[in-house]
Amino acid sequence: MTDFTATKAMFDLPQGITYLDGNSLGPLPRTAAARVARSVTDEWGQMLIGGWNRAGWMDLPRSLGDRIAALIGAEAGHVVLGDTLSIKVYQALASALELNPDRRVILSDTGNFPSDLYMAEGLCRTLGDGYRLKTLAPEDVAGAIDDSVAVLMLTEVDYRTGRRHDMRALTRAAHEAGALVIWDLAHSAGAFPVDLAGCGVDFAVGCTYKYLNSGPGGPAFIYVSPRHADAARPALSGWLGHEAPFAFDLEYRPSAGIDRMRVGTPPILQLAALEAALDVWRDVDLNDLRSASQALMDQYIAGVEDACPDLILATPRDHGMRGSQVSFRHPQAYAIMQAMIARGVVGDFRAPDVIRCGFTPLFLGAGDVARAVAVICDIMQNRLWENPAYQTRAKVT
Ligand SMILES: *Cc1c(COP(=O)(O)O)cnc(C)c1O
Repeated sequence: MTDFTATKAMFDLPQGITYLDGNSLGPLPRTAAARVARSVTDEWGQMLIGGWNRAGWMDLPRSLGDRIAALIGAEAGHVVLGDTLSIKVYQALASALELNPDRRVILSDTGNFPSDLYMAEGLCRTLGDGYRLKTLAPEDVAGAIDDSVAVLMLTEVDYRTGRRHDMRALTRAAHEAGALVIWDLAHSAGAFPVDLAGCGVDFAVGCTYKYLNSGPGGPAFIYVSPRHADAARPALSGWLGHEAPFAFDLEYRPSAGIDRMRVGTPPILQLAALEAALDVWRDVDLNDLRSASQALMDQYIAGVEDACPDLILATPRDHGMRGSQVSFRHPQAYAIMQAMIARGVVGDFRAPDVIRCGFTPLFLGAGDVARAVAVICDIMQNRLWENPAYQTRAKVT
């Protein structure tokens, strides 16, 4: 059994804070500050440009990619880090479309994160030639996979409701219809076991600053199935994806395998933080993590529904149909969340009316959930959200 007391001790959380937002920005792993400081002073400071070789900076996107591969059921050697998730979505989509050249439709859902949809729209505009993005309600996607679909592009867990797609079934359905699939694991990687290779997924992308705790601006990752690794042509053909970057050839030749999905200079300080953050997973069994997160979610839902009938559950109750977050709807969701934050219970608001909380057993236990429930119920029963101080919106919500 995973020792969650031990993992909790690996995080530096401020006193008095119940942090239900690790799904948006994971907290600081205790060893990350020292690891980053070492990168700054010993590596950058002392080795200067020699750090690329002597400190192994250039290999980090691949070596840490292998450690992430182990958390998402990917084959070693087929995940690489770099850029932001939006960029990785664009790369995966452009390559997947090129691998299915006779079709023009990208199928996605209205619960996908807007940036993924925006990137797809932008790519369609650039490609012209009849390419288009089609979005349906999440529950209608399965019925719309037909022989017009080039690529099925979905985020496994809906960022707003927490609803989870059936990766295995949808991947199979897409393949049977001759489509390729891209899964966005933004709310999956580090939240529960994922089986990319077992499901036969073509491409996957995800970020590291949510459940993987790499810190604000931590790099994204991309997975390309070994089936496509040498065939997928990179749309963003940067020099570090070249077969021989330091030959400085005038012509681009993609490197073999996943390295071709690299674009430019890797963010070494962020990768140093990620390296420390990944140590937390060493003795974690993802199945234990999953059952612990389900128990925390059940406890939270039962507690809130019991005492706050005005809050409407937006997340499926079925364990198999949800990620690791729970959302409740209320017209005053923004003010309610501000009142919660003022009392030290940090989750987030998602427009227009969602109070979203993430449950990450690495650092949360039943006591934290009980405290959160008590605070929310006090706010609802005593209408504390009516305080005008909670109505003004900040830039980042
Ligand atoms: C968090 C998230 C993003 C954020 O993309 P960035 O480019 O890293 O800012 C994109 N897509 C999904 C599905 C997300 O959950």
